[in-house]
Amino acid sequence: MDLNFTPEEDEFRLKVRRFLEENIPKSGLGDGREGREDKAWLGRAKEWQRKLYEAGYVAMAWPKEFGGQALEPVRQSIVNDELVRAKAPYLIGGSGLGMLGPTLISWGTEEQKKRYLPKILTAEEIWCQGYSEPGSGSDLASLRTRAEIVGDEFVVNGQKVWTSGAQYSDMMFCLVRTDPEAPKHRGISYILIDMHAPGVTVRPLVQMTGDRGFNEVFFDNVRVPRKNLVGKLNEGWIVANATLFHERNMLGSASGSEQRFNRLLALAKSIQRNGRPLTEDAVFRQRLADLEIRVEAMRLHAMRQLTDQIRGRQPGIEAMINKLVGTELNHDLATAAMEAMGDDSLLARDEQSVLDKGYWPYEWMFSLGLVIGGGTSHIQKNIIAERGLKMPKSR
Ligand SMILES: Cc1cc2nc3c(=O)[nH]c(=O)nc-3n(C[C@H](O)[C@H](O)[C@H](O)COP(=O)(O)OP(=O)(O)OC[C@H]3O[C@@H](n4cnc5c(N)ncnc54)[C@H](O)[C@@H]3O)c2cc1C
Repeated sequence: MDLNFTPEEDEFRLKVRRFLEENIPKSGLGDGREGREDKAWLGRAKEWQRKLYEAGYVAMAWPKEFGGQALEPVRQSIVNDELVRAKAPYLIGGSGLGMLGPTLISWGTEEQKKRYLPKILTAEEIWCQGYSEPGSGSDLASLRTRAEIVGDEFVVNGQKVWTSGAQYSDMMFCLVRTDPEAPKHRGISYILIDMHAPGVTVRPLVQMTGDRGFNEVFFDNVRVPRKNLVGKLNEGWIVANATLFHERNMLGSASGSEQRFNRLLALAKSIQRNGRPLTEDAVFRQRLADLEIRVEAMRLHAMRQLTDQIRGRQPGIEAMINKLVGTELNHDLATAAMEAMGDDSLLARDEQSVLDKGYWPYEWMFSLGLVIGGGTSHIQKNIIAERGLKMPKSR
């Protein structure tokens, strides 16, 4: 494994850094994760993604014919690092870029790729993920939303829940039951639903962060053209898993952990315990050392994966580890910060005396959501044990 970048890659990094210094929106977008509903915010968020895309920094590895540049993954990895380093707002089209896009590239028809991929890149169409339902989260294959075929259409009835960003999404990639008689994994299809179609109702839910990040979505006789089926009828489970694979990789991405660790370190230096900075407290130092080792392990793990990608190797068990380890690490970093702040961690974000601009309490709550979303840690452990280590199935 080569841990060095080439001179051209270093030069490219500087170019990206300069672009971000000059172009990151200075205000009015927050960090982009809050899931707001007002049109002005949405417009600014889309504009930011479009600007980044036009500069050539979005989905750079995608095929050229659909708006990508077919570049080596290392370029995108440099851009991702720089986005985190510059504290750039999250991309509003993240679900399309990170989940549906790569799935369509492997599983979509040519018509679907042409129709959807370019608008994902430019944020003209925002996507949400319709997997979870009341009673079907970890046991996703038990989902009950029905789609019946009537002529050239599916007619969809049922309910999804915890749908992130549905309130401002134009489209949903959705799992529906098309054969209720088949064993549960076999009667599912993967379809693309227009969120503006008659019969779709979205009801935002408030999270513990106070944000309206996710929603309930109801379908009442929603008509979906049959050409919006991805993969084969009743064989959507395999496509659904392809999307989950991309989602888990995206959620576990290591790049943010280094930044968070550095922020935690700065916080600990600024806090006094027994007349000394917290970084000189023997017990807290151990904690910091443990976290730094985990951050470094994730950085090296990401480099290993990048090397594999460059060499064209299929991702194996190492890709399954990302979600579990990356999301738990980020939550543990936030937990350490909360404990370092003690009672001050209870102050609201806008209190004058709040430490580190109120970043950590929000981050602590938000990062817990990512430990659960995309499949909980328990489920990741089961997958790693069963599919990665070939251990007997859990019951
Ligand atoms: C921030 C956030 C965003 C989300 N966004 C979306 C979205 O956009 N679209 C979408 O479809 N869904 C979304 N989800 C839903 C998410 O996928 C589910 O919450 C998750 O899969 C867990 O399902 P559940 O909430 O029904 O919990 P349950 O499945 O009811 O699990 C409850 C507990 O039991 C444990 N458990 C369950 N089964 C097992 C088992 N076999 N072995 C061991 N332990 C087990 C779980 O680990 C968990 O601790 C989001 C969730 C969060 C938190």
